[in-house]
Amino acid sequence: MYFNEETVIFYNGKFIKAEDAKENPYGQSLHYGNGVFEGIRAYNTVNGAKIFKPYEHYKRLKYGAEVMNIPFNYSEEELTKISYELLERNGLKDAYIRPLITTGVDMSLKTSSQSNLLIQCWEWGKYMGDKLLRVKTSKFQRPNPNSCFVEAKVTGHYVNSVLSTNEAKNAGYDEALLLDMNGNVAECSGANIFMQKDGKLQTPPKGHIMAGITRATIIDLCREVGISVEEKHFTLDELKDADACFFTGTAAEVVGLASLDDYKFPMNWKDTHGYRLMNLYKEEVLGLRLKEKTA
Ligand code: PMP
Repeated sequence: MYFNEETVIFYNGKFIKAEDAKENPYGQSLHYGNGVFEGIRAYNTVNGAKIFKPYEHYKRLKYGAEVMNIPFNYSEEELTKISYELLERNGLKDAYIRPLITTGVDMSLKTSSQSNLLIQCWEWGKYMGDKLLRVKTSKFQRPNPNSCFVEAKVTGHYVNSVLSTNEAKNAGYDEALLLDMNGNVAECSGANIFMQKDGKLQTPPKGHIMAGITRATIIDLCREVGISVEEKHFTLDELKDADACFFTGTAAEVVGLASLDDYKFPMNWKDTHGYRLMNLYKEEVLGLRLKEKTA
């Protein structure tokens, strides 16, 4: 699904066949989860393949490398250029792009002085599908921001996402909702959350969540089209009194929720701000809104 014998990846300065990539079994990423990654999408637009917000994604990748003390010298511009070339070499226009920085051979707990850059891409439909989601509140919390850099996409942090997703799926749900250490609603295992109440949207502020690039895009779209949106903490009880709810993320894009535990969101999805924003987001990533604005 992700690759075949033709697939090309970028690995430490070269474009090579995915099958020829060799990561060292003594590397720190494998043993301790000390690596940083990104999730980016390219869309097949009327002007050809267009990567959505590559600068923002690569800036977050570089921030992650910096806080983890991982040596990494590529610029956002270089990484974007490589990504476009990678899409072309793989004949892809609509694709998910996965950059990953791994750390070198070192069994100590100090970051290795060597690192590797891999960039992969593959065709990937909407990560959580198109159907409204049935979500379960997880018993796992998002990590305490004093225990790690929550806004860095560090590979090891994703064990928390795996645990909560396994828990939800094993109980017959589609996805997990995680609270923060204070009991406020935080986010989904791999996406941010917005709730609608009395015609207004609320989303948890930064601090205990991944500062999603999709989340920021949705906030901008709300401001543009006049939907009221506030970055504000809310509790599970408040969420279970909301009219509607949706998740946002690069892989998931915008996806609505049918229910949370036993609570069914009462509004018809097509009448919600989430539905409207889902369509606006699609236009935004396809470059159609830009055309509209400049036309
Ligand atoms: N929260 C978590 C935990 C995530 O892994 C992601 C995906 N990066 C998001 C939110 C959404 O972030 P973005 O919109 O930048 O993809």
